[in-house]
Amino acid sequence: MNCIMCKSQLSKNRVNHIVDYCGRIVIIRNVPANVCGQCGEYYVDNDTAMRLEEITGELINNKAEILVLNYSELVA
Ligand SMILES: [Zn+2]
Repeated sequence: MNCIMCKSQLSKNRVNHIVDYCGRIVIIRNVPANVCGQCGEYYVDNDTAMRLEEITGELINNKAEILVLNYSELVA
């Protein structure tokens, strides 16, 4: 699998995934992803993407403007 942006090789790593969700900033740390060594673009697999959506969906009633979560704690 190669980077869509620059065609470089991807390697498995963990990233900080940042989402702007309904005007709130949600930072999910330690998300497993395939990361491009060249441009830093990252790709999560379908399973991880679904979990990220679940996680952010549960935050709809949370009033905090900035939230920092740790993925490895959330899915453990
Ligand atoms: Zn790239």
